[in-house]
Amino acid sequence: MADEKKIFVYVERRNGEANRASWELVGKARDLTEKLPNSSVWGIVLGENYEEICAEGIARGCDGMIVLKSPDLNHYISHYYKAALVEIVKEYSPEIFLIAATLEGRELAGMVATEIETGLTADCTELGILEDGSLAMTRPTFGGNLIATIYSPKHKPQMATVRPGIMKELEPDPSRKGEVIIKDFKIPVQEKLLRLLDFIPAEESVNIQYAKVIVAGGKGVGGKEGFEKLKELANVLHGEIGASRTAVKEGWISEEYQVGQTGKAVRPIIYFACGISGAIQHIVGIKESEIIVAINIDEKAPIFQIADIGIVGDLHQVVPALTKKFSELLS
Ligand code: FAD
Repeated sequence: MADEKKIFVYVERRNGEANRASWELVGKARDLTEKLPNSSVWGIVLGENYEEICAEGIARGCDGMIVLKSPDLNHYISHYYKAALVEIVKEYSPEIFLIAATLEGRELAGMVATEIETGLTADCTELGILEDGSLAMTRPTFGGNLIATIYSPKHKPQMATVRPGIMKELEPDPSRKGEVIIKDFKIPVQEKLLRLLDFIPAEESVNIQYAKVIVAGGKGVGGKEGFEKLKELANVLHGEIGASRTAVKEGWISEEYQVGQTGKAVRPIIYFACGISGAIQHIVGIKESEIIVAINIDEKAPIFQIADIGIVGDLHQVVPALTKKFSELLS
């Protein structure tokens, strides 16, 4: 493994399960190895009870898994995790280090990059390999009006956090084989600034990122009651609701439903955009949807330029009509 260019992917875990965004990164990392000669993909796991996660990592595309084992790493504590990742980077000198841009990943990546004095491109939406073998890290900038590709050929590892829901995970292949390296890890005494007294899991929060159907509303929904109509359609289609930032700012729906540049990136089979004008900051979060259905009273609304199906009309009439029709068809 000494001469290999190693691509590390941090495997984030919650309640023992890997965050799906980590497997999306493994899928992308496999892609990158095709353009980066002599490279391999390594999943990095922290804590105990790693057997299943390691098997899954290999099935999903890792050439190997490295585990830093310690009871102190069973729950996320930023300083402990940072110390563990810094140690593993120093030992193996990876070429590239990818971390999902989740709440945890965003915090951790910044801490690790600072300590090992390398660059970090946060919130990437695309990754590629340039001719000289550098990692091309692409992300929206200037309020989403520009797309910038950033590279860091002189500092290693080249680090990026990547937005969940954008890259495609691979189907697991249980016949894949890979190495598993397990190392005991002791938290350095200077990092023992915090101590975990208890772990209380958060209440289940909505996760629209992986919904197959999303019925999203914007300013045109007109209020909290309007979202009830959207919920009815979403329920009939076993989907979730979503929202534009304006609807969130109006206080009609909570932030976790926001789709777009400063919300979530989604890739459902069907995305209904109801009373959403189609600002670029919203579009970046929905462009991977398979089918976009736009419902808007303004036939010139920009959303119609990217919609697969456009309905010019009042959502307060169109949405209940769709709910009625779908419930007839699906009952
Ligand atoms: P509007 O633009 O006001 O559009 C409302 C639409 O509803 C109109 O097209 C109107 O014709 C239609 N309408 C009105 N009544 C009806 C009706 N009865 N039936 C049908 N249609 C009707 N936005 C996001 O969504 N997500 C983000 O993550 C995000 N991040 C941002 C980050 C930055 C840095 C900035 C500067 C902006 C961001 N925005 C984001 C805001 C974005 O620029 C837009 O302002 C926002 O998306 C507009 O929301 P909207 O489409 O609901 O409202």
